[in-house]
Amino acid sequence: MIPFSPPRIDQQIIDEVVNTLKSGWITTGPRTKMFEKRLAEYCNVPEVLCLNSATAGLELMLQWYGVKTGDEVIMPAYTYCATANVVIHCGAKPVFVDINDDFNISLKQIENAITEKTKVIMPVDIAGFPCDYDEINTLVKRADIVEKFQAATEEQKKLSRILVLSDAAHSLGAVYKGKKTGSLSDVTVFSFHAVKNLTTAEGGAVCLNLPEPFNNRALYDYFCIKSLHGQNKDALSKTKIGNWRYDVIEAGYKLNMTDIQAAMGLVELARYDADMLIRRKKIFHTYSDKFAKYSWAQLPEYESINKTTSYHVYLLRIKNITEIQRDEIISRIFEKQVGVNVHFIPLPLMSFYKKLGYCIENYPSTYNNYSREISLPVYYDLTDEQINIVADAVISSVEETRNIIYL
Ligand SMILES: *Cc1c(COP(=O)(O)O)cnc(C)c1O
Repeated sequence: MIPFSPPRIDQQIIDEVVNTLKSGWITTGPRTKMFEKRLAEYCNVPEVLCLNSATAGLELMLQWYGVKTGDEVIMPAYTYCATANVVIHCGAKPVFVDINDDFNISLKQIENAITEKTKVIMPVDIAGFPCDYDEINTLVKRADIVEKFQAATEEQKKLSRILVLSDAAHSLGAVYKGKKTGSLSDVTVFSFHAVKNLTTAEGGAVCLNLPEPFNNRALYDYFCIKSLHGQNKDALSKTKIGNWRYDVIEAGYKLNMTDIQAAMGLVELARYDADMLIRRKKIFHTYSDKFAKYSWAQLPEYESINKTTSYHVYLLRIKNITEIQRDEIISRIFEKQVGVNVHFIPLPLMSFYKKLGYCIENYPSTYNNYSREISLPVYYDLTDEQINIVADAVISSVEETRNIIYL
């Protein structure tokens, strides 16, 4: 069986994790601080805060911005549940909008969805392809949109507009107009979950890139406290002689990254551009070359004049098929010992969100693209031979299914 997305665990990762275990420092410490510094350099952003997941980072930022009951947060209907669940945790309302043909949130639909209650927009770089950041950033600063904004907290007054909080769980290393993700919006959150491009087993990072008069350094210090029970000294600083007494300044969360996780991240980041992304790019191009000759194949958009993906997920679509036909193709691919997936089942199709009244009929582009989508394996250790096996399994499964359909 060719698995869908196993992590890259080689001797270098194992050695660094073992070194960390032996170092005597396994919770947040020097390696986490180093990983934050390296990520900030990599993304060219003022500050990076590492946490135990992307979900944690998104929720921390919503809580900080004072998002609460009565508020609205705009996001695509086409995303993973984490994007919306954190809004629910805050008591606020996720406002789903439809997507473009590149799977990313539609600018026009964002504009239509903005109300006096909108506090945050969460673009999601689906599969690693950056959203239209210049347009989104311009939109939130447009006079009539700014006028609609109702600031209720100190932070909201300071920004005096909608916050752009990017869910970049897929897009570390993607490039938009010469700039890397992380630096494209007010705040960007990466995921280092086991299936993501760069993994720390579980983990995430928040890139702080807020405009004046915010002080990103001071915010970083504050978020270290807020993500560790509101405790004004972390374990590392308490190890300094005589530095045992601490205070709790608020009922904070427990979201910190461990040095074991950071050890993996440091190894992965050091070889990310020159090794990981090169391999993933090769896999994307090979798939596209193979499928280009089939009239039923709709290839994903992942490189354009202004945008380069992080080559996270290869989103193949089959033209003119129903959801049932797609599911049939998937089971035939699995029968050929190849693991594939669908990214994502839209949130309005999930029981919880259905019960809240969301209805897939309101998101025709989301449904259309979802119903014809199959995500193919992309990972560092996927061999050239395996790429051929995957492509052949997809091609024969589609053709068999088409024969059934058209008989
Ligand atoms: C994986 C993922 C997340 C959540 O990441 P965690 O690190 O597991 O919390 C959020 N959004 C999207 C789009 C994802 O794919």
